Amino acid sequence: VGDAAIGGAMPKSAFSANAQAKACAAAVAALVRERQPAQPKLINTCYSLVAPGYGISIAGVYQPRDGLLAEVEGAGGTSPLEAPSSVRELEAAYAEDWFRTITSEVFG
Ligand SMILES: Cc1cc2nc3c(=O)[nH]c(=O)nc-3n(C[C@H](O)[C@H](O)[C@H](O)COP(=O)(O)OP(=O)(O)OC[C@H]3O[C@@H](n4cnc5c(N)ncnc54)[C@H](O)[C@@H]3O)c2cc1C
Repeated sequence: VGDAAIGGAMPKSAFSANAQAKACAAAVAALVRERQPAQPKLINTCYSLVAPGYGISIAGVYQPRDGLLAEVEGAGGTSPLEAPSSVRELEAAYAEDWFRTITSEVFG
């Protein structure tokens, strides 16, 4: 999982690595119980803080296809190009919230 995986269309990011690790753990738990693992849909979002209070983002959804992760067409996209400053402020807040969430999930 993560950067070491040949993941197909799914970008290499901490968000992807975290999502893939959870899907992998769920699949192992299912197999241990002799159940068929569910087909996961994995989300990646990358936030960029361009300036204080000014964020942009790109998101995508991926699912297994032919042994790799393929993009789910029509899902995801970028934050709007021509957005008011209130949207940029919200995106910046989402970026900071995501950072707090992932660091507390990963490092406790
Ligand atoms: C400048 C920069 C900015 C980034 N910004 C973002 C961002 O905003 N959002 C985002 O989602 N992602 C971001 N990323 C990407 C993100 O950091 C990686 O995708 C993520 O860390 C991958 O996690 P991983 O656990 O797969 O690999 P890694 O985090 O690289 O962990 C692999 C670990 O294995 C260790 N290791 C390697 N070889 C061995 C060995 N032989 N024996 C024992 N240990 C070994 C390494 O030391 C390392 O600790 C950024 C990356 C960079 C470089």
